[in-house]
Amino acid sequence: MQIEISVLASGSSGNAIYIKNNKHSILIDAGLSGKELEKRMAAVDLNPADLSALLVTHEHSDHIKGVGVLSRRYDLPVYANDKTWTGSEKRLGKIKEKNQQIFSGPFMIGELGFIPYATSHDANAPVGYICRCGNQKIGIATDTGFISEEAKKLLKGSDFLILESNHDLEMLMTGSYPWHLKKRIRSEQGHLSNDDAAALLPKLIKDNQPKVLLAHLSEENNNPQIAYITVKNDLEEAGFKIGEDLKLGWATQAKPTKVYKIG
Ligand SMILES: [Zn+2]
Ligand SMILES: [Zn+2]
Repeated sequence: MQIEISVLASGSSGNAIYIKNNKHSILIDAGLSGKELEKRMAAVDLNPADLSALLVTHEHSDHIKGVGVLSRRYDLPVYANDKTWTGSEKRLGKIKEKNQQIFSGPFMIGELGFIPYATSHDANAPVGYICRCGNQKIGIATDTGFISEEAKKLLKGSDFLILESNHDLEMLMTGSYPWHLKKRIRSEQGHLSNDDAAALLPKLIKDNQPKVLLAHLSEENNNPQIAYITVKNDLEEAGFKIGEDLKLGWATQAKPTKVYKIG
């Protein structure tokens, strides 16, 4: 079964990932205004009225800003764990009771299966998601300062992997952020750096020639070229051939990626 994926936005000013199979389409996070999300979906020929659900990773506003609006406008169920609900409830505004889907483990939306797993971030109970459909696996790991062994097992062998590559260490350390923010970003509850992503990838890639998108790139402490080159060089040093063993790209804050098709 074919699956379509587009990262509509990625970074600290707003996040949303679109996934669709033949029957259902969902957004993981909706961290831009409802209007901006509609605009971005239209830009890649997607229609928000076709959405089946919204899934939330954690309650930071760059992940939930448009959730309430979209849920009300298109009558969409919102999936989040209990503590994320508690943390976001006020800012989401009124969500119909039938659309409040509180999960405590894996769940299905039609034939799209979702396995939430704990990430390490300064939110109530942040999660990443593995999405399975047929024999395809999509792994999502952003907003985490650390990837646990359990998460590595889940993410390993993904056919499509969206992996945080938040900052270049030197740019962060010599940049203008105040010290407490630098410390927060570098902590295990912060964000993965380009080097962290590069070190993780050899452990997550199997021989299924995955597509890997570097994501949640900081606009202040990173840029796509630096992230790409850092990860590419490290992977080549580890014996991987870009374009053969894996395809490597990135998602940005400014505009949606193309709609990728796998399966
Ligand atoms: Zn974020
Ligand atoms: Zn966050």
